[in-house]
Amino acid sequence: MHEMTLVAGILEIAEERAREAGAARINTVTVEIGRLAGVELPSLIFCFETARLGTLAAGAELAVRELPGRGRCPACGAEAEIDFYAALCPACDGCLEVVGGRELRVVSLDVD
Ligand SMILES: [Zn+2]
Repeated sequence: MHEMTLVAGILEIAEERAREAGAARINTVTVEIGRLAGVELPSLIFCFETARLGTLAAGAELAVRELPGRGRCPACGAEAEIDFYAALCPACDGCLEVVGGRELRVVSLDVD
C-alpha cells in the first residue's frame, strides 16, 4: 500500500529529528499534504496508527494540514486553485501546469 510507504518515511524523519533533539517521545507529528499528492488521508492515518507502535511516536497524533492544488497557465500566466491534474485555464482554456499541491512533508514535531 502506497500510504504505508509514506508513513514509514514520515516516521523515519520524525524519529530522526526527535533523536537529534534528545526527545524521549513524540506527541504530535504535523505533516503538510498537497491535494494532488495522491494521498488518501483516512488510509494514511490508519497506517500511521499501526506503524507508530514500537517507535518514539508510539503515542503520537498525526496532524494533517491540507494544501490546495495550484495550477499556472503557460500561455497567459493565470493561476488557479485546482483539484485535479488535467485542469483548464479559467482565462484562455489552455492546459494548466501543476505548480503546487504535490507536497508531502513533515513540518513540525511536538516532543517531550
Ligand atoms: Zn491561460
